Amino acid sequence: MNNVILIRFNEIHLKGGNKKYFTKLLVNNIKYALHDFECKIENIQNRIVIRDYTDESGIIEALKCVFGIHSISPAIELDNDPKLISDFVATIKVEGGFKCDVNRADKTFPIKSNDFNADLGEIVLSNNKNAYVDIHNPDTVIHVDIRENGKTFIFHEIIYAYSGLPLGENRDGLLLLSGGIDSPVAGFCMAKRGLRQDILHFDSFPYTSPQAKEKVITLAKSIKKFIGAKYMYICSMTKLQEEFHVSCASEYAINLLRRSMIRVANKLCEKYKYKTIITGESLGQVASQTIESLTTTNAVAEYPVLRPLISFNKDEIIEIAKEIGTYETSILPYEDCCTVFLPRNPVIKPKIKEAEFEESKINLDYLISAVIDNIEIIKL
Ligand code: ATP
Ligand code: MG
Repeated sequence: MNNVILIRFNEIHLKGGNKKYFTKLLVNNIKYALHDFECKIENIQNRIVIRDYTDESGIIEALKCVFGIHSISPAIELDNDPKLISDFVATIKVEGGFKCDVNRADKTFPIKSNDFNADLGEIVLSNNKNAYVDIHNPDTVIHVDIRENGKTFIFHEIIYAYSGLPLGENRDGLLLLSGGIDSPVAGFCMAKRGLRQDILHFDSFPYTSPQAKEKVITLAKSIKKFIGAKYMYICSMTKLQEEFHVSCASEYAINLLRRSMIRVANKLCEKYKYKTIITGESLGQVASQTIESLTTTNAVAEYPVLRPLISFNKDEIIEIAKEIGTYETSILPYEDCCTVFLPRNPVIKPKIKEAEFEESKINLDYLISAVIDNIEIIKL
């Protein structure tokens, strides 16, 4: 009899011929998430089992951040032997309504699920005077998962993780991370679909403070476990913003800044082989997030720009930010480069031609190259 942690996955089951590949990815990601813990990881058919561990709660917390995992259960592992299973069930203490839930994946197991449910239910009743059977609304469910590898897992607790798809091997995405609430959530949402990402942040020192930069580094470190980030690029937009401020129409300032952010992201995608850019924009949230503003920004994008929060309300975004632990950092009151030189009347329906005209007043290519040349790269 062993104490183990049982891991189930769901969407991977739909992957047909690619199931093996996705399972391998998931196992590798679990290995990485648990690399600081003492434990062994075993991949059995349709389940992953963690054994020989000491820190159960630490491991469960780490597993909850691994996409592709549907749910986790601390369990007892026995051989597929009706007597061993019955003897163990006889030791379980139950109060109130309960039911047994036998899953007979091992079709060679001699007793059919329904019959075994009834047998085990009798055993529980005869050993617990305050227990009664309640099929529809039980306080306790005794799960008995009889697997094809000759092992049975008995558990009552099911801890849900985020499901989704395991992070891919390559860091394909470049997440534009500000200090706000939205962009960490955007990174989380895309990672849930298996997109591994690195991080790009723009500051505007000395208009933005070192504390503002530290705050974003803290955010980056706290979402790293979800998005699989290894590198964070920090670029200074100071010179560009000063030029826009001096030479260009002030109502286009944010628009020009956003186009510059995408241009810098294009260059990094090209240099480091990222395939897509991710932002935390949500339709209509601010002037720079109208359809016209997004169109003006998209016009300079050379890679797909993914905006997972486009249809989210702010309260929905905040709920996720709280859930993933970024909210408290995001609301620290430091300025972002977007709030520096903020125009009084930002244009709500910008036009690509107008943006291009404003950009023609400065030496944009030179300024963008200077941003790239002075990039700071942090290993997370
Ligand atoms: P957030 O809460 O993410 O800051 P926001 O509502 O403040 O979003 P904006 O400031 O318009 O919206 O930014 C929209 C998106 O642009 C952000 O979600 C982020 O992806 C990107 N962005 C904004 N500022 C920066 C920055 N300083 N560095 C990197 N990306 C940024
Ligand atoms: Mg912001």
